[in-house]
Amino acid sequence: MSIPKLRRGDRLVLATHNAGKLKEFQELFAPFGLELISAGELGLPEPEETGTTFAENARTKAHASAKGANMLALSDDSGLCVDALDGRPGVYTADWAGVPRDFNFAMQRVQDELLAKGATTPEQRKGSFNATLCLAHPDGRDMIFVGKCDGTLVWPPRGTIGHGYDPMFQPEGFDITFGEMAAETKHSWAPGQQGLSHRARAFAQFVENQIEG
Ligand code: IMP
Repeated sequence: MSIPKLRRGDRLVLATHNAGKLKEFQELFAPFGLELISAGELGLPEPEETGTTFAENARTKAHASAKGANMLALSDDSGLCVDALDGRPGVYTADWAGVPRDFNFAMQRVQDELLAKGATTPEQRKGSFNATLCLAHPDGRDMIFVGKCDGTLVWPPRGTIGHGYDPMFQPEGFDITFGEMAAETKHSWAPGQQGLSHRARAFAQFVENQIEG
């Protein structure tokens, strides 16, 4: 069931305990006059992500924050899906980096699994980054917004900008990886445009459907 559109001055909880994610979303929201406060800042507990889809995990996080704060809440769940690996690591993208997180190790695992499948040509090494946003109301209503960015998994990894699996992901239509790309290019998004990154595209859907004006 739908949730009324958001207007300037509205406040919502960002269902994250990650300060980096909060900053990224605060920047995205700034032009719309919306105020974001994080679940971490409110001292809300972090729910376990036990779902098998991005949407399930996004819903779990958004509803936990919406109920905990009795406010509208927005969550984000994302990951890398590799075609030749039947969509893995998918919802386990962060887990492949182990504890503490080591994304060189995670990228090496993707490469090893691709080689085990004999995937050496760019056509055999296609994949996508996916982002799912969930907006939840404390009364249990929610809405889902999805963004996807297709690309190729390259080896060796290239570039030092960005985070996670960025150095091994070359988005379609570019000859540089996310790791070699300026953040403004990767996250670029302007009203009426589609954006490049999975997160920018999911956010564009959210703005188009859920922000007044
Ligand atoms: P979550 O959305 O916080 O569950 O994290 C998903 C995982 O996907 C993170 O650990 C990142 O490593 C990875 N990921 C998501 N988006 C990106 C991206 O834009 N670049 C690189 N890695 C990403």
